[in-house]
Amino acid sequence: MLKALNVVAGIDMGATHIRLCLMDDNGEVLHCEKQRTAEVITGGVVCGIAALLGAPLARLKARCRGLVMGFPALVGKDKRTIISTPNLPLRAEELNELAGKLEDALGCPVEFSRDVNLQLSFDVAQNGLQESQVLGAYLGTGMGFAVWLNGAPWTGAHGVAGELGHIPQGDMSLTCGCGNAGCLETVCSGIALKRWYDSAPRDYEMGELFVFAQNEPFVTALLSHAARAIATSVNLFDPDAVILGGGVMDMADFPREALIAQIKQHLRRPLPHDAVRFIAASSSAFNGAQGAATLARSQHLPAPAVAPVRAAFG
Ligand SMILES: [Zn+2]
Repeated sequence: MLKALNVVAGIDMGATHIRLCLMDDNGEVLHCEKQRTAEVITGGVVCGIAALLGAPLARLKARCRGLVMGFPALVGKDKRTIISTPNLPLRAEELNELAGKLEDALGCPVEFSRDVNLQLSFDVAQNGLQESQVLGAYLGTGMGFAVWLNGAPWTGAHGVAGELGHIPQGDMSLTCGCGNAGCLETVCSGIALKRWYDSAPRDYEMGELFVFAQNEPFVTALLSHAARAIATSVNLFDPDAVILGGGVMDMADFPREALIAQIKQHLRRPLPHDAVRFIAASSSAFNGAQGAATLARSQHLPAPAVAPVRAAFG
């Protein structure tokens, strides 16, 4: 009988889409897939994830040895507890013991992570920055932010460090998805941008917003908010590099250079102003899922004996 192929899985669960990546022990990506989150979880999260994984595993005749799953959420230091997910349509009872329920359904270890930490892990590896100090600012649905220190994402005392989107630098008359008033995300996020776009009839698509509306006061204000917040983080952490990415920055004609110039205006001189590097995140939507799979591989799949020695991830 043929031995089953050993693989690991990475899942990036976003508000709109859920992305899956299967990887073998060589680090080769065997399968990538994107589905609508709402459709996957209609019959419950556990059933949905089991079905999502089941089909490609059967086709590859493979066995899943470990799953790392990213959420736009606060994830506890135990890497199993989802503390708060303002941007995900999941009920509290579904989140309760979710890691254990998934382990029972899938028959392999399951670990959770905040999605931006997986994205940053991918970008750091992609740019060979494992030994550097790196910040990642990901302007997408929310204002994602992550810190790379000492060779790993820095998660703080409780697992929840880096919540730049929830510093109190937004519109104090608005309540954020997290429940607090005036978070940065109320004025600087994809959600805020969509709210502004929907507030009046527009003769262009949301995706063309930076083509047609770059100079609208709300849009220029959003960019200034982003620049001030990112500059603050750079002045606090003094990193080697800042990775800039996320769905909003991936939109057509996003003024990346103007944003970097604005960030630099606020940096302390001569340092970190003269030394910090700004790097564009590669914009593949599967980076988070691939970062998750790479992490799962480093933990659950021993490197193949015949393969040349590879630098360990992270
Ligand atoms: Zn908030």
